[in-house]
Amino acid sequence: MSELDPAALAQARALLAGADRIVVFTGAGVSAESGIPTFRDALAGMWARFDPERLATEAGFRADPALVWRWYAERRERVAAAQPNAAHRAIAAAEATGRTITVVTQNVDGLHRRAGSSDVVELHGSIVRAKCLEGCGPAPAGWEHDARLPPPCPRCGVPLRPDVVWFGEMLPPGAFERAERLAAEADAMLVVGTSGLVQPAASLPWAAVRQHRPVIVVDPNPTELDRLATVTVRGSAVRVVPSILPTTRPAPPARGAAAP
Ligand code: NAD
Ligand code: ZN
Repeated sequence: MSELDPAALAQARALLAGADRIVVFTGAGVSAESGIPTFRDALAGMWARFDPERLATEAGFRADPALVWRWYAERRERVAAAQPNAAHRAIAAAEATGRTITVVTQNVDGLHRRAGSSDVVELHGSIVRAKCLEGCGPAPAGWEHDARLPPPCPRCGVPLRPDVVWFGEMLPPGAFERAERLAAEADAMLVVGTSGLVQPAASLPWAAVRQHRPVIVVDPNPTELDRLATVTVRGSAVRVVPSILPTTRPAPPARGAAAP
């Protein structure tokens, strides 16, 4: 295991300690150490014959609903068996310091909520929810019981589908706009485990940069977002995130400081 860069860690810690409002922007990497494979890794084994066009588009679902339903049922099972890791937990625990912590995630695994984060913007939806293919609304309770075939929507009879954003689809209404506003208003943005390749999500850190807010990037590998980062910490989410997020309340303003 390579050494973490102490100067980068110290800078990240100081930037986050001085922030009242922190936006934590995450990708598949934050869940890697919970054993949730990235999209590419998940397309292994019996799924290796299938391409994302067949498994993660509306056209693919309409062509073979049972196939797509089975793929998501398997991913849902993996997620249910997984646990939030120390990075998810540290992000949730930082709320206890009195700071406003908002999570904006590209992940569909629900692990931030399970770790206890109270405000999570799920840009790409969630595999632990389903909805009507024609837009009637959310699936009724018990929809997940059949792992082989999508149950029909109780209102219109068309198959239910996973409540995730497939390739070529719009993000949930208002989610991106809210995330962009939060990024622009935050005192600091912490980016964890995203390659920065999936748009429009990958453009969010720019909203912080445009307002001259510091951006801290945590990833074991180089990413597209490194070039806009104030500081890049190379290391895994579990090794780095718990050691840079504040665990105590912000220091009160120095005595005698002028009131704003
Ligand atoms: P991605 O594009 O978000 O890239 C993954 C990043 O995580 C890479 O930069 C990689 O270096 C980094 N990483 C790997 N291990 C890490 C670790 N232990 N700690 C921190 N960072 C680590 O992910 P993708 O898999 O290419 O995803 C494409 C799309 O599918 C995105 O929307 C993604 O969020 C979604 N997806 C979600 C999940 C999930 O919900 N867990 C899983 C797979 C894919
Ligand atoms: Zn319906």
